[in-house]
Amino acid sequence: MSLTLTVDGPRWRAHLESVADAHPGIVPVAKGNGYGFTLGRLARKAQWLRDRGHDVTTLAVGTYAEIPEVATRWNGDILVLTPWRPFVEPFDPTLTKRVIHTVSRLADLDQLLTLAPTARIVLERTTSMQRHGMSARELWEAGEVLRRRDDIRLEGVALHLPLAQGNHLGEVGRLLNDYVAAAVPERGAPTLWVSHLTDGELETLRQQYPDFVARPRIGTQLWLGDRGALRVTATVLDVHPVERGDAFGYRARTAPKSGHLLVVSGGTAHGIGLEAPTGESTIKARAATFARGGLDAVGFVRSPYSIDGKQRLFAEPPHMQASMLFLPSGARVPAVGDRIDVRVRYTATTFDRVDIS
Ligand SMILES: *Cc1c(COP(=O)(O)O)cnc(C)c1O
Repeated sequence: MSLTLTVDGPRWRAHLESVADAHPGIVPVAKGNGYGFTLGRLARKAQWLRDRGHDVTTLAVGTYAEIPEVATRWNGDILVLTPWRPFVEPFDPTLTKRVIHTVSRLADLDQLLTLAPTARIVLERTTSMQRHGMSARELWEAGEVLRRRDDIRLEGVALHLPLAQGNHLGEVGRLLNDYVAAAVPERGAPTLWVSHLTDGELETLRQQYPDFVARPRIGTQLWLGDRGALRVTATVLDVHPVERGDAFGYRARTAPKSGHLLVVSGGTAHGIGLEAPTGESTIKARAATFARGGLDAVGFVRSPYSIDGKQRLFAEPPHMQASMLFLPSGARVPAVGDRIDVRVRYTATTFDRVDIS
């Protein structure tokens, strides 16, 4: 009765191990809906990688509120990606030694060090993303602040780069130079926490900055990088034959031709939404569809569900936990209980079940 993510366990785990092997110092990212898997499951998998001897010492979460989800299932350090603010949710003080804070404003640095002088800290430098981070000047001032103290636990600099578009290395080099110029007193080797560099860029960076330790933060490529190991299915919950003109649905619209209404699991509560029309998007192509009397011409919208490899149309917008599809006559009609494929955005979908073999 559910929207299910079925995972080919051996294949998925082999992929996780190969990504971990290819990225020593990898910081797996477990945030939000856990990329569809849930945070708890990802935390356990990170622990599994660590137990298998991979170089995984730190797991990243998105927010402070996510710490409890991972802390009991993973025994290493926890980096919080969203920068610390004076108003963040408090967390279990017994975790203080495991939590690494991201600090992106000078004012926050002062305040955090006042509240928690031994907090572990990574300083964030802004990138062309312009999301969070300090300017070169603020970083330099942070260096001043930090050099005046001898009890601080600074663990590096963080850069959040845009998704790969061309080469990031010029930008990374400039930003790293800002960090070096700030002469921030780090305890161990200077560390760069970074996202969205290609393997080639990471390699070049390691050659150009041999005294830096690069810690790639990776979510999508790790958890979702082998889509062939993942399958998403919904269950057919009901099937109703309809004739042209029959009324159905919340808005009592009428069937434009004969066929079947299918009620399938998965709705707005799972993150199932209306799809933007793909494929035939030019005006000319749409006009042609209209001329052929296609179902999208009568207002049916493409759904993410497919049957026998063919993407099907919503009979009406998705309901909270179920959706209605229209199957024109002539198509094979699945039986109640059959599973059909669904294409989803994993980071925006809540599955009822995750089955890992
Ligand atoms: C989400 C996030 C990542 C991981 O991004 P993916 O594209 O899923 O690998 C890395 N760094 C930061 C700061 C993030 O917020």
